[in-house]
Amino acid sequence: MIKIKTREEIEIMRESALVVSRTLGMLAKEVKPGVSTLYLDKLAEEFIREQGAIPGFLGLYDFPNTLCMSPNSQIVHGIPNKTPLKEGDIISIDCGAKKNGFYGDHAYTFAVGEIDSKIQKLLDVTKESLYVGIREFKVGNRVGDVGFAIQNFTEKHGYGVVRELVGHGLGREMHEDPEMPNYGKRGRGKKFVEGMVVAIEPMTNLGTQKIRQHADGWTITTLDNKPSAHFEHDIAIVNGKPELLSTFKYVNEALGIVTDVEDEFRAS
Ligand code: MG
Ligand code: MG
Repeated sequence: MIKIKTREEIEIMRESALVVSRTLGMLAKEVKPGVSTLYLDKLAEEFIREQGAIPGFLGLYDFPNTLCMSPNSQIVHGIPNKTPLKEGDIISIDCGAKKNGFYGDHAYTFAVGEIDSKIQKLLDVTKESLYVGIREFKVGNRVGDVGFAIQNFTEKHGYGVVRELVGHGLGREMHEDPEMPNYGKRGRGKKFVEGMVVAIEPMTNLGTQKIRQHADGWTITTLDNKPSAHFEHDIAIVNGKPELLSTFKYVNEALGIVTDVEDEFRAS
């Protein structure tokens, strides 16, 4: 059952999303060769608690940490460890926080130092596909319209769209209805209505769309061990249109990225 949010609840959720946005911005300055994902995890946990929130993933389905840290061929749900990141790696950081009873959940894939231009293109296309999908999240459209838009855009570049993992409704629960696949058919699935809040999160593979689950029960990697990227935003439907609750503004500031791409989805 889809839980529709009131305007008041959407404002509370904006703060939960921004806790995560600020945390990703803090991490953007810390991601560099020689730093371990476990170190970054501890920084994130402290930073989330300083903001009056609690880590959203820690203990959720028994996940052991604050961040899902998925380097290179890992797609999502990687567990932080002491292995230092190295020049040329990419690291997908997925972060959740709960504040005032509601969750924020968003993700960014960072370059560690200088990366291969082919991998940079994968990151750029995956990030752009997220906004392509968000544009379709509006009253009158359906779940399949978002999935179709992301899949169509991504496959044109020759990349693999992961099928087994999807976006989701967001609220008092981390995972609410509806599921939001990154593939689909136009006009299919649940209809979007005012007050829906979802996390849209394309997971895009440089090579095959096929995945492999590790023996730890968590980590998911690409079957061909080629790199994978993951970007995620939290979005509400307000006045019929998609409104971003999360933002990459803090990441962009930290990395010196100048862009106006989010302006289209700001509160009017
Ligand atoms: Mg997430
Ligand atoms: Mg999510």
